[in-house]
Order: sequence, then C-alpha cells, then structure tokens
Amino acid sequence: MLRFDDQIAVGLSGGKDSVTLLNILYKLEDAFPRTRLIAVTVDEGIAKYRDEALRIAEKSCQNLGIEQVVVSFRELFGYDLDEIVERLRERKTAHSATSPCSYCGVLRRRALNIAAMNCGATKLATAHNLDDENQTLLLNILHGDLFRMGRARSQPSSKRARFAQRIKPFCEILEKETTFYAFLKGIEFQNTPCPYSPAAMRNDARSMLNKMEERHPGLQYTLLRSAERLKSLMINASNREGLRTCRMCNEPSAHEICQPCKILLELK
Ligand code: SF4
Repeated sequence: MLRFDDQIAVGLSGGKDSVTLLNILYKLEDAFPRTRLIAVTVDEGIAKYRDEALRIAEKSCQNLGIEQVVVSFRELFGYDLDEIVERLRERKTAHSATSPCSYCGVLRRRALNIAAMNCGATKLATAHNLDDENQTLLLNILHGDLFRMGRARSQPSSKRARFAQRIKPFCEILEKETTFYAFLKGIEFQNTPCPYSPAAMRNDARSMLNKMEERHPGLQYTLLRSAERLKSLMINASNREGLRTCRMCNEPSAHEICQPCKILLELK
C-alpha cells in the first residue's frame, strides 16, 4: 500500500481505529526517513460530540509530534452537519428520512481528499477495518449498487482531477483486534457514539454480521475473500469509464455532477 517516500495523510477522527492507525504508522515511519505523516481531521459540526473527538485527535498529534490539519464542513461546504440535518427535517423532503450518515459520509470523503491534496499527500490512509469493509459490501448489495465497489478503486481519467490515492491498512483486521490493541497500549480515544449513528442502516449490517461471526467463526474473512473476487470484476467493469471530474467543482466524480455537489444543490 505504501512506498518508501510517500507523503501520508492519515484521516484522524479521534475514534479508536484512527488514533490506533496513527500510532502504528508513526512507529513504522521511523524506518522510512523520506516518508512524512500528516494527520487530517474533519470537523463535521456535530454539537456535544465532535468537540471531545477533536480534543483527543489534537492531543494524539501533539504527543507524537505529528502535524495536524483540521478542516470543517462549514468552511468547505457552508453548513455544519447539524444544520444540514435540520434543513432536511424542516423541508420534509423525500430525503429527510435518509440517515444523516449518508450526507456525512459523502461530504467527509470529499473533505478528506481536499485536505490531503492541500497537504501535498500522495496517499490518504483511513482506518476502515475488516468489519467496516464487510458492512460496506453488504450495504452496497442492499442498495443495489455493486459497481460502487469497483469505483472505489478507480483512478480519475482526467489529469485535472485532484485525487489522493486512498489506502486502508486495517482492511484485513477485525475491529475487536484494533480495539484490543488500543486498550493494551493505553491509547486514548473517544468512546462516546455519534448521536446520529442509531439511524444508520450500517448498524443493522453490523449486528447481523456480528451475530453470524459468533455462530460461524471466520465468516468475516471468507466474506472479505469473496469481496476481493467481486471487486476485481467490478473494477474491470467500472474502469471502462474511469473516474471523471465533476462539471461543477472539478473534483473526481463517477457521474457528471458529483455527490457532494448534488447534496449542496439540494440544500440551497
Ligand atoms: Fe457522520 Fe454518521 Fe459517523 Fe456520525 S455516525 S460521524 S453522522 S457518519
């Protein structure tokens, strides 16, 4: 996933997986003097939740002596997530029943990419673990969008696109193992769940997969292998088109207008 001279932006939320990833990459970086680590943190604007995470993220960077860049939804998109949720509720649009996570996820991916590019990063490392990957696979199937798996690995076909290649160093590691590591090493992380998380369909996917893993140990790994096979088929299919640039913002996009721009148009 990494080269000896990569400039690595690490998505750091302050949660257990991201703080653990930062600590591990910091250890590895010692052996690669031409590598640089920068932490990038996104403040979505979630009252009574994000402040604690921001404090922990900042402290982790100070302890390790790692540069940190913080970007916010408000500064990049003009709205806090709380405000977006409020607007959608007021309008009672067809999308008002959609989980805030759908909006948050799209805008956060864009915010991370912008921050990574602004830092001159060649890679953007996120702390998605095996459980996250399998939940995403299941959600893509349930949403009828298997091609998304292929697009996630596509590179922009246009040289104008500003795009940091994403890597997920924990993608083959179970969540309980990263949690165990964080506890063993005494790593401080935010434990409070996001107030919007109960509405997410991902929770249902998580409980279903956890129940199945309990009854059939090893199932999460089998699912990962199946996903890998599926992904290569999907990559071939989606690479025929490749990623383009959004007509409105010039950022990488699978469609003529990217998802973040569609959200911002909907909010106006
Ligand atoms: Fe965003 Fe949902 Fe995560 Fe909360 S739980 S930070 S709304 S993606």
